[in-house]
Amino acid sequence: MDKIFNNTQVAFALKSDTELDRAYFLFKMISNQPLVRIGAAVTNFALNVNLPVEGLIRATVFDHFCGGVNENDCLSVVDRMYTKGVSSVLDYSVEGKEEEDQFDAALAMTLKTVEFAKERQAIPFAVFKPTGLGRFELYEKLGAKQTLTSKEQEEWDRVVARFDLVCSEAHKKDVALLIDGEESWMQDAADDLVTEMMRKYNKEKAIVFNTLQMYRWDRLDYLKKLHDVAKKEGFFIGMKLVRGAYMEKENNRAEEKGYPTPICSSKEATDANYDAAVHYMIDHIDNMSVFAGTHNEESTYNLMSLMEAKGIPTKDDRIWFGQLYGMSDNISYNLADHHYNVAKYLPFGPVKDVMPYLIRRAEENTSVAGQTSRELGLIKTERKRRKDK
Ligand SMILES: Cc1cc2nc3c(=O)[nH]c(=O)nc-3n(C[C@H](O)[C@H](O)[C@H](O)COP(=O)(O)OP(=O)(O)OC[C@H]3O[C@@H](n4cnc5c(N)ncnc54)[C@H](O)[C@@H]3O)c2cc1C
Repeated sequence: MDKIFNNTQVAFALKSDTELDRAYFLFKMISNQPLVRIGAAVTNFALNVNLPVEGLIRATVFDHFCGGVNENDCLSVVDRMYTKGVSSVLDYSVEGKEEEDQFDAALAMTLKTVEFAKERQAIPFAVFKPTGLGRFELYEKLGAKQTLTSKEQEEWDRVVARFDLVCSEAHKKDVALLIDGEESWMQDAADDLVTEMMRKYNKEKAIVFNTLQMYRWDRLDYLKKLHDVAKKEGFFIGMKLVRGAYMEKENNRAEEKGYPTPICSSKEATDANYDAAVHYMIDHIDNMSVFAGTHNEESTYNLMSLMEAKGIPTKDDRIWFGQLYGMSDNISYNLADHHYNVAKYLPFGPVKDVMPYLIRRAEENTSVAGQTSRELGLIKTERKRRKDK
């Protein structure tokens, strides 16, 4: 497979010199681990006691990683990216809510994004997080096979109804719907519910997509078993494949509670597991649709090679590549330039509420070996290319 991701001219075609400088400054800052840890703590504190730090956050991390504070803010970014063939997934990134009215608000927002996706070719998917529509502890309790009280059962019925409403609207409007993966100790209940939705709404094609976090060593097996069920019952599987964003939390909890960690034994094992899942899905693409959410160049080349080997056209609508807004533009824009289906998650929401998402991005860029230096290297190359022109 030709190596295409080093073309920085294509990667940064939409960035002005000033924007490129800002991105360089930002990645330089978040490459500094102590700075990120202290920065995260200070920012959370400042927001909690209502210090006026929103402007500073907006001008730095927020505007780099988010499309705006509401869905309408995002539209100019959506249109701009689409001029280069890169689609968007509007991601309402408000996390950590616990109240019923907040779940109903997230439901309303998700329904709105389904409508947005129906109206715009540039937005091929809608997305939501299971814990956006229901209380984390409820998923956890169900996953642990504990009996719910009658009040909890009513609460869970409302979660199921919210899922069903979003999925049925997506089905009615023919909008594919991604459902994010979260911590393993709440994921079993979410998996059962999403499978139920696939059973109901994926009869003609994949509308509902679950997420497999391939840093979990049990997920390939899970996929194969789900495939058996889907074949028997006659529904299509939609899956977003990611490596997983909660590794430290997973390992810490397993150690604390004394059970074997669900995480693969090494980065190499996770990489192999990820690529094996991609391989399995492409081998069975007649029953499946895949959204490969990754910034890993090798895994992306691997999927491109598999498509080529099987004679699958780059624009096959069962296969999508995905990255996060503000990261790995070299992958997204070069894929689009080579006519692959590619979409970027475009988070939005009030500054205070998207802080957990932003902190995860900052920590990820600090801790993932190579990610930040790769971003910095690419920006440097592009700055030099423009200067030498
Ligand atoms: C479009 C999109 C959607 C996403 N949706 C979700 C989601 O729903 N749920 C979710 O959890 N994450 C999600 N993510 C984040 C994703 O899980 C990863 O955290 C992130 O993309 C980094 O992984 P990578 O494949 O890009 O590549 P890389 O940078 O190659 O891999 C880094 C990842 O490898 C794994 N890893 C690192 N070190 C080790 C180790 N020592 N042992 C085992 N594994 C290791 C971790 O998962 C780490 O995040 C999404 C990412 C994208 C791009």
